[in-house]
Amino acid sequence: MGKQLFRYSEDNKAKFLESDNITFNDGSVVTPEEIWDYLTVEGPVKYPGTYEINLSQGNRDSRDETLPTSLKTHYLSLTFSARMEKAKKNGKTIAFIQGGQAVDPYTAADTIALRPFLVGQWYHGREHGNDIYKSVLRRKQSKETAFHDMSFEACQTGGYEHVQVGDLPIDVVAPYTVLRCSDVSYGVEAHRHGPNKDVKLINVDFPMRHQADKPWAIEYFARNLKKLVKTLDEARGKKTTEDDLWRAIRLHNEGRRLGTELADLWWSTDIPPTNSDDRNSLVALANLDMHGDVQASLSVLKEAKKIIAERVKNGVKGHAVTDNPKRLFILGSCVGINESRSEDAGAIVVGKDDQWSHCTSLVEEEGDPYYNLAKATLEYPYEQSIEKRAQWTIEQIRKSRADGVIFIHNWGCNTQAAVSRPIVDFIKRETGIPTYIHERDLHGLRDEQEQNRVNAFIEML
Ligand code: SF4
Repeated sequence: MGKQLFRYSEDNKAKFLESDNITFNDGSVVTPEEIWDYLTVEGPVKYPGTYEINLSQGNRDSRDETLPTSLKTHYLSLTFSARMEKAKKNGKTIAFIQGGQAVDPYTAADTIALRPFLVGQWYHGREHGNDIYKSVLRRKQSKETAFHDMSFEACQTGGYEHVQVGDLPIDVVAPYTVLRCSDVSYGVEAHRHGPNKDVKLINVDFPMRHQADKPWAIEYFARNLKKLVKTLDEARGKKTTEDDLWRAIRLHNEGRRLGTELADLWWSTDIPPTNSDDRNSLVALANLDMHGDVQASLSVLKEAKKIIAERVKNGVKGHAVTDNPKRLFILGSCVGINESRSEDAGAIVVGKDDQWSHCTSLVEEEGDPYYNLAKATLEYPYEQSIEKRAQWTIEQIRKSRADGVIFIHNWGCNTQAAVSRPIVDFIKRETGIPTYIHERDLHGLRDEQEQNRVNAFIEML
């Protein structure tokens, strides 16, 4: 049977063309007209899998074509691989980093910082014409190789094997060693012993457990950040100044503030102004690292905030959102539920802890930039002791007025698997709201077994 492909409706084109341009790091600009052409002509040919209408990805009716920033985040995702190739050709330095960290020092050192998922997206986006099953198979095959080469106990999102065999031109492996991600720990160790010695390696060593307010720990981490910047400077052959750092901190604080304001606006009304998918992809822009281009992320985020404010003021309900949906808060690293199908079942996702944790951590803008960055990083709520992390999560659950909590951990995400039980127990004891935990495989299709459990939870709520 032929596959049904989603198409953007020409009825929405005129309004979309009135929306803002996207401005990129290198000063180039893409107009709504060019974005529209890409999404309707080039995109479906290169990445037909992302246009398929099926149970894994939701149906046509779940996409909000009247929200211009939704089309723009789709455009930035589809063009990611080509943009990374272009940046590399133009001599940009590219670093492989951790998922749960801010990227201010990398921006200061004019380096694109890619977390594990984005490294995979770059690699897999190089192959065109795949339907969704071929795309998933390709990712699974990469993971299978990495399970053999590295460890079957890691989620294998990062694609260190591509770096080691020289398939991806990463210049430096340079993550903060925050606790959340075991893929990075295994990967860094594998890289240390792997064949590709041309790619530099530096761990930005993060002191763990109850260190956030200890001066020695902040100073130690600040020294590690200086080493990081020195390594990035060696890779690109230029020196980063203190002014570069302040500029980067101010830029990222602007993103963090806009993201927080956008989330607060979204939470301020009982009528959800967007569906779950758009909420997540817009709030995720706040860390400015999501699409490998901080200026592009900032430009879409600014426009998104204006649109959401307007929708909230006028009581506009997000497209395809049911009346009085049950509000879900999702916990865990690199996870999410099938949002479209969960909306069909009467729910909406109102927040996540991952990424949001470091979006809420502003960096002070006076004093020593390294010290301030170190202090903010050591205070990430997601990296605190179980009780502290749970307390912060409860605050977010209350602000978002969530009715239920789902903690998901991917196979091989060992820290999150270990802490999920005590965290949800703490939340349940303090708030009384229903919670549940499940494990799944990252990069599989979101299957019926998972959705059956999510739907049963929504029904119970
Ligand atoms: S799922 Fe866990 S282990 Fe895998 S990349 Fe994300 S944080 Fe790291």
